[in-house]
Amino acid sequence: MRQVYRFFSLRIKLIAMLLLVGVSAALAVGGTAYWMLMRDFNAAAHAQAFGNFQADIQAYLGKYGSWENAQRNVPFPEFVMHRRGEGGEVPQQARGDVSIPFREPPFRFLLTDPHGRVLLATAGYATGQKVEDEILRQAKPIRMGNTVAALALPVGIPQLSAQDQAYLEAMRKALWNGVLAAGGLAVALGLLLGARFGARVRELTVAIRAMRADGELRQQVPVRSRDEMGELAETFNRMSQELAQAHAELKMTSARVQSQSQQLKELSIRDSLTHLFNRRYFDEQAAESYRQAVEGGWPLCIVVGDLDHFKQVNDNLSHAVGDEVLRRIGAVMLHGIRRSDIVARYGGEEFVIALADSSEEQALARCEALRRSIEEHPWQEVDPQLRVTISMGLCGDTQRGSVEKMLAAADSALYEAKRGGRNRIVRCGQTVESVL
Ligand code: GH3
Ligand code: MG
Ligand code: MG
Repeated sequence: MRQVYRFFSLRIKLIAMLLLVGVSAALAVGGTAYWMLMRDFNAAAHAQAFGNFQADIQAYLGKYGSWENAQRNVPFPEFVMHRRGEGGEVPQQARGDVSIPFREPPFRFLLTDPHGRVLLATAGYATGQKVEDEILRQAKPIRMGNTVAALALPVGIPQLSAQDQAYLEAMRKALWNGVLAAGGLAVALGLLLGARFGARVRELTVAIRAMRADGELRQQVPVRSRDEMGELAETFNRMSQELAQAHAELKMTSARVQSQSQQLKELSIRDSLTHLFNRRYFDEQAAESYRQAVEGGWPLCIVVGDLDHFKQVNDNLSHAVGDEVLRRIGAVMLHGIRRSDIVARYGGEEFVIALADSSEEQALARCEALRRSIEEHPWQEVDPQLRVTISMGLCGDTQRGSVEKMLAAADSALYEAKRGGRNRIVRCGQTVESVL
């Protein structure tokens, strides 16, 4: 039931509610009116019938003195017919709109003497039978002067005239028409209000769906009234605005955090003076390159370079010039290697390069070009007396067992290059004597 209720639109629910309220109100009012009408109708019919009956009894007893004497002369029904046929006294109708026909009394009466013995047999009672006291209590007295001459008790259901029944039928019809009109009105109102409320609720749901579908959080719906619906629309507009703003701020913050974390990552792997990778990052990457080279059977060369007589640069020209030299060396090196190579400042004025997928000959050629571009760099821009050269040791023997051992071999070759007069490159396993 709950599931089905959820399924229906607001409009259908509103119509159903108004229909229920309208029809039940019409039924309650109509039912009460019909019940009261029937009650008054019966009471009036009863009073009318009793008045007629009482007048007949009083005339009957008045004429013959006593019931027994009257019975001996003429039976009561015959007396009544005769009396009314003569145009005898017929009481006024109890109500103008209620007509009690002469020959079809709406009620039959059980007539007893003042002690409850049946005088006029009816409703299963025989003449002379004693009526129970409990029933007698509902009886009405018929008086002759000041004395109670008899008691009358209505029995059976009221027999209404055709005219009264037609009147009641018309009332019933009118009430049913009222119920139908209330139902119709409820449906019409439901459709009207449902359409109005539905349209306003739809504006909100469309806006909410748009927020979800295309992610545009800034949605506005028209505020059409000052009631709760208007307040809802206003609140929605405000919340949508705030949400869009908060979302934009969050996006900005997230972008800032992302770029900061990127910067932090760069800082953690780069040397701040030369902007080359730092030693820690080089060791990680070179170890990985070595593993891949050994597994794949590809060549790998490790180069260690050291600036020649760099101490003199600091001593003769200043530490600031020394720093500028290191900065420029970083740029020259980055420019002279491939994207797949890794170059790092290994410490002080010492640099390392890992050349992936390069034979010793290829690496040697690239390092030779690098050496020359350092030697030929316009150092006079920094200081007229400045000359900078670099010595390098190179190792392409991946059989050495680890990248550290290759580095050590390259370092020994560098030592040989220094020993041989600097500004040169020596391959591992070679001595400077063999090169010279
Ligand atoms: P060699 O040719 O034998 O390598 O001689 P060298 O003078 O280059 O060698 P040495 O090891 O004696 O001197 C290295 C100098 O590098 C010492 C130090 O002052 C300098 N140095 C190290 N790091 C920096 C730095 O960050 N900035 C500057 N300006 N100088 C540095
Ligand atoms: Mg050094
Ligand atoms: Mg040096």
